[in-house]
Amino acid sequence: MTKFIFVAGGVMSGVGKGIAVASVGKILQSKGFKVTAIKIDPYINIDAGTIRPTEHGEVFVTEDGTECDQDIGNYERFLDENILDLNYITTGRVYKTVIDKERNLEYGGEDVEVVPDIPNEVIRRIKKVAKTTKADFVIVEIGGTVGEYQNLLFLEAARMMHLKSPGDAIFILVSYLPVPKMIGEMKTKPTQYATRTLNSAGIQPNIIIARSEYSVDKKRKEKISIFCNIDIKDVISAPDVESIYQVPINFEKENLGNRILKKFNLKPRKSNFKKWQQTVNIIKKKKKPVKIGIVGKYFETGSFTLMDSYISVIEAIKHASWFYKRKPEIHWLSAQHYENNSRSLKEIKNYDGVIVPGGFGNRGIEGKIKAIEFCRKQKIPFLGLCLGMQLAVIEFARNVCGLEKANSTEFSKNCKEPVIDVMPEQKVLLKEKKYGGTMRLGAYKCELKKGTRSWKAYKHKYISERHRHRYELNNEFKDVLENKGMIMAGINQERDLVEIIEIKEHPFFIASQFHPEFKSRPLKPHPLFREFIKAAIHSHIQH
Ligand code: GLN
Repeated sequence: MTKFIFVAGGVMSGVGKGIAVASVGKILQSKGFKVTAIKIDPYINIDAGTIRPTEHGEVFVTEDGTECDQDIGNYERFLDENILDLNYITTGRVYKTVIDKERNLEYGGEDVEVVPDIPNEVIRRIKKVAKTTKADFVIVEIGGTVGEYQNLLFLEAARMMHLKSPGDAIFILVSYLPVPKMIGEMKTKPTQYATRTLNSAGIQPNIIIARSEYSVDKKRKEKISIFCNIDIKDVISAPDVESIYQVPINFEKENLGNRILKKFNLKPRKSNFKKWQQTVNIIKKKKKPVKIGIVGKYFETGSFTLMDSYISVIEAIKHASWFYKRKPEIHWLSAQHYENNSRSLKEIKNYDGVIVPGGFGNRGIEGKIKAIEFCRKQKIPFLGLCLGMQLAVIEFARNVCGLEKANSTEFSKNCKEPVIDVMPEQKVLLKEKKYGGTMRLGAYKCELKKGTRSWKAYKHKYISERHRHRYELNNEFKDVLENKGMIMAGINQERDLVEIIEIKEHPFFIASQFHPEFKSRPLKPHPLFREFIKAAIHSHIQH
C-alpha cells in the first residue's frame, strides 16, 4: 500500500520546501524504498510554460514534455529519477478536468461543486501517481504557504485522504523561524500561528521541519512541541547550509527518516548515503575555483539578483565542477550591458568559460551575440543552450560566412537571411495564438556524428535530450555554415533537425538546441557540462 506524505509551508515562501521534499524523498530512497514526489502549484495556469521566469523561476521540462515548476527539477536531481507530467498538479489542471468532465456529462446529472468535486479530482490525480509509479511513498508538496486562499482546496484534499485512511497519510509542516537582529533570539511564534492555521483546515502536522538561519536549540524545540502539539522528537532542526545536497544528511542526523517510518507503523531502517556523502565532502572542501560567466537577462528583479531562472544550468555547472573537484564560481553577465557598451566585453576574459542559456524575445539578443563572438575569437570555452545555439549560428553566419543580414525570424520576422527559422508546424500554432504547451517539448532522439567532441563526450551514437523551442537551424543554410567550418555534430534524423553544432579550431565551442541542464544529476554530471568544465579548467591553467 502506498503511503502519502503531505508537505505544506508555513510563515513564508522560499524557505526550501522543495528541497525539504526532495530530501525526505532521498532519505526514504536511501532506506530502500521506492519514492516519487508530486508538486501542486496553486496557480490557474495549466503549466509553468506561460509564466515569465523572473516571476516563478525556471521553467523545468520533463521527459514527457511538460513545462513545470523548478521544484520538479530538484526532485529529479535528488532522486535520480525522471518525474513525469502526472506528478505536476495546478489549480488550472484540476479545474479544467472537472469542467471538461461536466461538459461530457460524466457527473451524470449531478450539480458539480467546488467541494467535494475539486478535492476529489486532486485525490484522483494523487492516487493515479501512486498507481502508475507503484511507489512505496508519494510525497506531495503543496505549493504556497498555509493560510493562503489559493491552496485551501489542496489542504482539503489532503485532509480527506487522511480521514479515509489515517494510517496512510501524514503531514509535514516546513516552517521558518526568524532570528530578528534587534532581538537576537529565534522566534517560534510565526510557526505556532502556521500550525494553528493548519489546524483550522482540519490538519495536525505530524512533523515540523524548522527552517532557520541557525540550528534550533532544545528550548525552542520544547516550545514548538508544546504549542504546536507534537512530540519534541518530531521537531527537525534545519539550519541554513552551504549546499542543498547536505540537507538529506542533516535531516537524517535528526532521525527524520525513522520518525516518518514510525508514523506509518513501519520498522526503522538504516540509510545508505555513502556515495552522496562523498559528493557532499567534495562540496564542503576548499577547492580551486573555476569561473563561469552566464550571459543572461532573467536575473534582474528590482535591485535583487534572482538566480532561480537558471537553476538547472547552475546546478549542472556545479555537478560538473565537483566532478573535477573544483569550486564553481558563477557570475552573471548582463547581455544588455554589452549592447550599449562594447568595450565592457573585455571583462569576459576574466572567465574560464561562458554559457549563453535559453531565452525568448528580442531583449539582450545583440549583446549575447557579441559575447559569443568574443568567446569564439578569444578562444574562451563556450557552451550554448537552445537560444545560445541559435545565437551562435547567427554570429557565425554573420561574422564568418559573411551573411551580414543573418538572424532568426523570432527577432526579425522578414529578415533576408533567416539562418534560424520557425518550425513549419509552429508557424500555424503561432498564427492561431496557441501558445500554451505547444513548443517542441520533451525528449527527442539525436544521432551524433562520429569523431565530434559531442560524440566523444557522450560516448554514444544515439542520445536523447529534452527540448523547449519553436525555432531551429534553417537547413537551407547548412552547407554555407559547414563550408566555413561549423560542424553539425548532432542530428534528429526523423525531422532532419540540427541539434548540436561545434566549431573546430577552438578549445571548446559547443551549442545544443536542447537543454542538457535538465538531465544533470549531482553524482552524474551531464557529459556536455562535464567536458565544458574540463575545458574551462584547462583554459584557467593556461591563463
Ligand atoms: N526562443 C527560442 C525558440 O523558441 C529559444 C528557446 C529556448 O532557449 N528555450 O526556439
